[in-house]
Amino acid sequence: MSAPYPSGKPVESLDPTKRLPLTFTAPRRGKPPQHLADLTRSERRELLHATGLPAFRADQLSRHYFTHLHRSGEQMTDIPQSQREVLVDKLLPSLADKVTDIRTDDGATIKTLWRLFDGVQVESVLMGYRERTTLCISSQAGCGMACPFCATGQMGLTRNLSTAEIIEQVRINAQMAAAGALSRGPKRLTNIVFMGMGEPLANLRAITGALTRLIEPSPEGFGLSARHITVSTVGLVPAIYKLIDLGYPVTLAVSLHAPDDELRDGLIPVNSRWKVGELLDAARHYFRETGRRVSIEYALIKDVNDQAWRAQLLADELNARGHGWAHVNPIPLNPTPGSMWTAATQSAETAFVSTLRSAGIRTTVRDTRGSDIDGACGQLATKGKGDRQ
Ligand code: SAH
Repeated sequence: MSAPYPSGKPVESLDPTKRLPLTFTAPRRGKPPQHLADLTRSERRELLHATGLPAFRADQLSRHYFTHLHRSGEQMTDIPQSQREVLVDKLLPSLADKVTDIRTDDGATIKTLWRLFDGVQVESVLMGYRERTTLCISSQAGCGMACPFCATGQMGLTRNLSTAEIIEQVRINAQMAAAGALSRGPKRLTNIVFMGMGEPLANLRAITGALTRLIEPSPEGFGLSARHITVSTVGLVPAIYKLIDLGYPVTLAVSLHAPDDELRDGLIPVNSRWKVGELLDAARHYFRETGRRVSIEYALIKDVNDQAWRAQLLADELNARGHGWAHVNPIPLNPTPGSMWTAATQSAETAFVSTLRSAGIRTTVRDTRGSDIDGACGQLATKGKGDRQ
């Protein structure tokens, strides 16, 4: 194990080949402090009104946060000095301290480790491509899904993140991108993927709030395009239906990794509750209701799930439910330390992909950005090699 980081101080120039140590200190009890991003626009106004402050300050404060991406009283020149401190104190407390960041891919990828109010740590990964800047965020500290190939799965769940803790990852990374931290890509965040630590659909309340804040325009939120937001799930079927009801046309990614229950039961423990068939039915329904093509995630594990016959079975399962509704994203497994599994060989990958394509399934092998820095716990899955820019 690597030595723990000195507390509270950002460590800037780390050896980029080193992995971030994911040490969890014992959590302090209680909830994160109240934050503007946990509240709707009208709740913010009501809160200020109830504290004897002018309600319209809520919108001003929200614009500083969502449009100008800062929480610094000094820059709030449209607000009287006498009110700035109390407003920041009340609605914009610090929620995430940067512990460290690591750059790789010639500065086009930045992985950041954050410490939250109670000492728990989560990661985000910012990735610049020629035409988009993608942020991968965490929805939970740890994860309760226990998938054996996933580093976060081995940690167990520490706790859910609040909406504002999720949104703070976005706000600070957006600020980093705007300041030119990436060597490539637009300075504006264009894409968000919930593919960091945690199972987003196991934290649906906070995710609902986070999606609202991401999508609704300022002063309610950031005003990002729903189409450029991806929510990835291990397959919590009832929550997929709830996500449909939410009505935002975000992209759904399903971490399938096996087309048959026999194998998937071992790779994804929650498959014992919701089977492949039920999960694909829910995914198909998602497409029908939202018009968004579903991404099927498939980490290729050598001699485990990488056989051409399994690619054919996957294609058959998808085609049985219609055509063109799903897009398969194989990604070579990013082996976790101590794991007995490794990535599929290049030739197995090629055969897998061509079997899918011959069966008419759209397939894009995903880029393994940041695998040298352990991705987001080996979970990084951003966009196809074909799109690599
Ligand atoms: N819990 C959610 C989102 C987080 S993981 C989910 O399971 O979808 C994001 C993606 O990374 C998932 O598809 C996950 O299965 C995948 N992943 C996890 N560990 C991986 C590894 N070691 N190598 C490659 N992909 C991995």
